Amino acid sequence: MSTSSGTGSANHRNGTHRSSLRAQSSASTSSAAHKPSLKSKTVLRKSSPAALGSAPSASKSGNGGDSGVPGRVRVAVRLRPRNGEEMIADADFADCVELQPEVKRLKLRKNNWDTDTFEFDEVLTEYASQKRVYEVVAKPVVEGVLDGYNGTIMAYGQTGTGKTYTLGQLGEEDVADRGIMVRAMEDILAQVSLETDSISVSYLQLYMETVQDLLDPANDNIAIVEDPKSGDVSLPGATLVEIRDQHSFLELLQLGEAHRFAANTKLNTESSRSHAILMVHVRRSLKTESNGNSHMTKSLKPPLVRKGKLVVVDLAGSERISKSGSEGHTLEEAKSINLSLSALGKCINALAENSSHVPFRDSKLTRLLRDSFGGTARTSLVITIGPSPRHRGETTSTIMFGQRAMKVENMVKLKEEFDYKSLSKRLEVQLDSLIEENERQQKAFVDEIERITVEAHNQISEAEKRYANALEEEKQRYQNDYVESIKKLEENWSKNQKKLAAERLALGEKNGLEVTSNGNRSIAPALEEVSELKRMVQKEAQLKMAAEEEVNRLKLQLTESKRVEVSGNSEIMRFHKMLETETQQKEKLEEEIATLHTQLLQLSLTADETRQNLERHGSQKTSGGALDSFMSQLKLPQLQDPGNAEKPPVAKLFEQADDADVRIHAVKVVANLAAEEANQQQIVEAGGLTSLLMLLRNTEDETIHRVAAGAIANLAMNETNQELIMAQGGIDLLSSTAANAQDPQTLRMVAGAIANLCGNDKLQTKLRSEGGIAALLGMVRCGHPDVLAQVARGIANFAKCESRASTQGTKRGKSLLIEDGALSWIVQNAKTETTAIKRHIELALCHLAQHEGNAKEMVKEGAIWELVRISRECSREDIRSLAHRTLTSSPTFLTELRRLRVDIR
Ligand code: ADP
Ligand code: MG
Repeated sequence: MSTSSGTGSANHRNGTHRSSLRAQSSASTSSAAHKPSLKSKTVLRKSSPAALGSAPSASKSGNGGDSGVPGRVRVAVRLRPRNGEEMIADADFADCVELQPEVKRLKLRKNNWDTDTFEFDEVLTEYASQKRVYEVVAKPVVEGVLDGYNGTIMAYGQTGTGKTYTLGQLGEEDVADRGIMVRAMEDILAQVSLETDSISVSYLQLYMETVQDLLDPANDNIAIVEDPKSGDVSLPGATLVEIRDQHSFLELLQLGEAHRFAANTKLNTESSRSHAILMVHVRRSLKTESNGNSHMTKSLKPPLVRKGKLVVVDLAGSERISKSGSEGHTLEEAKSINLSLSALGKCINALAENSSHVPFRDSKLTRLLRDSFGGTARTSLVITIGPSPRHRGETTSTIMFGQRAMKVENMVKLKEEFDYKSLSKRLEVQLDSLIEENERQQKAFVDEIERITVEAHNQISEAEKRYANALEEEKQRYQNDYVESIKKLEENWSKNQKKLAAERLALGEKNGLEVTSNGNRSIAPALEEVSELKRMVQKEAQLKMAAEEEVNRLKLQLTESKRVEVSGNSEIMRFHKMLETETQQKEKLEEEIATLHTQLLQLSLTADETRQNLERHGSQKTSGGALDSFMSQLKLPQLQDPGNAEKPPVAKLFEQADDADVRIHAVKVVANLAAEEANQQQIVEAGGLTSLLMLLRNTEDETIHRVAAGAIANLAMNETNQELIMAQGGIDLLSSTAANAQDPQTLRMVAGAIANLCGNDKLQTKLRSEGGIAALLGMVRCGHPDVLAQVARGIANFAKCESRASTQGTKRGKSLLIEDGALSWIVQNAKTETTAIKRHIELALCHLAQHEGNAKEMVKEGAIWELVRISRECSREDIRSLAHRTLTSSPTFLTELRRLRVDIR
């Protein structure tokens, strides 16, 4: 809308300007409103930022199913400098417009004394550089496209006013001349990563209600297809070229321009009669951050993709085509040439007036631009005007078009979806590589076992061979020795025989009378022989012994090599067993992969269902629906069939929930289940306790800490679980959670968990040595009565166990509680007004007092006076008498009371 002044009205803000106030649009009669935008849709406007197409941050976190945020069509006006002809022809006349860029106003001169004033989102003078025009008109839209919003940039104006200069200038001679298309692609290429993202372009011309492909002239009647459910418009017949660098994009624009020229020559028209439409599709993969969990979980989350579409439209000249004939067209043709542009005007009028019917379907242009006006795209319109007063009529109508377009409200929506296809592809690749790895491992195992078997066999046969050789050698040696000694014996014997024969011969010659007297002489050599024989026998015996020894040694060797053989066999057995476990593991892995496949399938099904729901119910409550279905996915196995033996471990439940909100929800569900005693065993068996403890370690989120600690506290009511918690480093985890926690409720849960552990007789020493008592006492810093009550309960529990141990005689020396400094806190808080804290402290004091080893310290710290007070004033009779009993049964207390003359009867 506009203000115009004629009667020197002082209504205008700057008072100096003298023009009449007159409403321009039929609906606007309010003279006070300056901004057309503030008139009809005040509420919506307020929520949309003022900058041209600035990003709606609220929907950034959405999953594409949100209903969008309001975003008005932003309109800039650009004035072309006087051209050569105008310099001469209009030399004596002032420009028909005067721009005030600093207040974003344009004054349209009606005559020498009267002007109309209009406001725009941006006012660009004849001096505005191409760079500035890009930055204010196009850049926010391009950035939106990179973030996953659709965007439209459009130029409207009379032929010759600079639409093509603004949008399509290539800037080959002067880089400063580059127009919006070239600069937009530069920005897009600079910000995407070509490894994960893709850019593709189509370039079209719309002339006489026919869509022609400027990248493939043969393709001259492309159909516009509308998705009946989503209403999305697409041109499946158009050539789509993938862009990887600026150079190829420039070539493409040139090619398109050449084809446009050729087509227009053929149709006997000029490009000012047709609309040129550049479509840039940007598809970006979002990096989903990993939280360090197993890579299985990570790979189960489908990657997110954002799809933004940038549409740049260089509209046909807005001047009224002069009847028929001027360009050789019939009247029908002339109507058709104008049809799309006039339909666009009608739609914008209808939208500006909030009319219930917008005639989008009347022309191809309005069908194509359905998303740009009143749709989900962010739209920036630049209207171009010339300075010449001769064209005042056309300039005025251009300005009015721009004013009406400023009233059009869009609901800007994020185009984001899960990329199930690439997830499935990734899982398949992973599966294949696992299968390959498994095969390789199996082969390596078989090879190794073969090698060991061969080696063992070789060793055994080697040993056998060595043994046989040694045996053979030995046998040979004995045989040789034996033959040798036989030979010697025979030699000796024949020698003796000969000697004997000779002697006998000599004797016979001497009459044989001296036989007796020479008897001695014949016996002597025989004796010698005997002793010789004896020596030989001895030697033989020695040799035999040596042989026996050798045989024994060889026997030992044989048993040794047998043992080697046995151990080789057992090694083989061991490897067989290893192979078996490996095979089992492989089977397990395959099962897991199968489960993952099923889960993927389920996810896809849910996604499909969600999508169908979306399509069915429109866009109202989509994001909630998607979350619900995801949650039901998470909850399904746990809640629907608690008796089912095939529960997925709780760990998976938490890990799969990468989204923090979903994870918190999952932990809450488990925590609620853990509150029921009947569920506890099942939760622990499903790995819930371990997972909860892990959450304390692995997450920073305090809400998760609080809920997890609450669940642990509930589980810690049972003795078996208490031992489990301790065994898994629970004290350490709870202590560090307590040290970092701010929220009193978190501290209450942690203190409650430790307090439960304090009641276990078996865990006393371990709990204390791991810092459990110190952690409890540390939590009193928070001062919240709920936390203090849990701390007091823990101390009372611990003291009770200690007093039990001392009555059984297993406890000597001072209480660990006193050693850790709990007594002074107890004494300080004994007079508290809060009943819950008070009761526990009173009990703790009575328990501590039962052990004579604590008595001295209790006297020193003044605890004795609290005991005296309890024995007199406590509202519970049993505690009162317990305190009295402890006082009277301790010699230390009695002495002290007597010394101070205190009567406790
Ligand atoms: P349209 O596309 O609206 O018919 P063009 O972009 O073809 O108009 O512009 C017509 C002529 O004016 C061209 O020669 C162009 O270079 C020139 N021109 C347009 N706008 C400007 C400008 N802002 N500065 C300099 N020259 C311009
Ligand atoms: Mg042009």
